[in-house]
Amino acid sequence: MSKRIRTWMALALVGAALVCGQTAMAQQNQDFSKVQIKVTRVSGNIYMLEGAGGNIGASVGEDGIVIVDDQFAPLADKIQAALKELKITDKPVRFVINTHYHGDHTGGNVPFNNVGSTLIAQDNVRKRLEAGGTAGNGGSIKMDVKPAEKAALPIITFEHDVTVHLNGEDIRALHFPSGHTDGDSIIFFPKNNVVHMGDDFVRYGFPFIDVASGGSVQGMIDAMEKATAQLPADVKVIQSLDRMKQEKILEPWREKWAPEKAFINADAFIETLYNSLTSHKGEFVKHN
Ligand SMILES: [Zn+2]
Repeated sequence: MSKRIRTWMALALVGAALVCGQTAMAQQNQDFSKVQIKVTRVSGNIYMLEGAGGNIGASVGEDGIVIVDDQFAPLADKIQAALKELKITDKPVRFVINTHYHGDHTGGNVPFNNVGSTLIAQDNVRKRLEAGGTAGNGGSIKMDVKPAEKAALPIITFEHDVTVHLNGEDIRALHFPSGHTDGDSIIFFPKNNVVHMGDDFVRYGFPFIDVASGGSVQGMIDAMEKATAQLPADVKVIQSLDRMKQEKILEPWREKWAPEKAFINADAFIETLYNSLTSHKGEFVKHN
């Protein structure tokens, strides 16, 4: 009997480099008209949308669409169009789950609410959106967050966890207290072995821990440990091949192991790792 190898994929939020920290500035300065939404099939009917801000996870199927996070308001129409172009369903985005309150994850709440999507988040997400305040590291980094308008507020909130039963999957949002903020949820798509980590897991450098919004170093470590404990031991964090090349993930080793004219240069070895780990056959990930 062959052992079924389960592969989980974390939607690694490399796109969140703008993040959280710089949300207000990004909103003021960024020209959203130039942002393109890139859609990648992660596994089964789960997709990742990259645009500006935190990457979006989407379950797209016969019952409609659930998205995890919604980037910025000016991108909402492009996000809707990208989902429609998949030609899987004409049904709308029925639910938006916010992983936390930062503006690059909740900025599209108003336009999605306006077209009938139901906003879901942990209790503290609603509280922080409603109240506004200051985000930051408790020291040199401080960002004013204005109180959000009513239409941006999640209308279903939960303390510990909530499950959305759609597209044949029990999509579960689980609260991990006091990590990146005090309202973080990690979203599990168990049928498809995909997990969206919110900003509890980022790859752009030192993580931003929003101490001023209830985040903590120990809470982020605990969230990582608890989240990974719920995943199989052979968990793999997988990103797109292009993204790994762009990020130069082997840079620390390149000079010693892959000088310019090396037979296997850094990009070639990234391809080797990717193709071997994913049994690459022309799709993003071979699954099950
Ligand atoms: Zn954030």
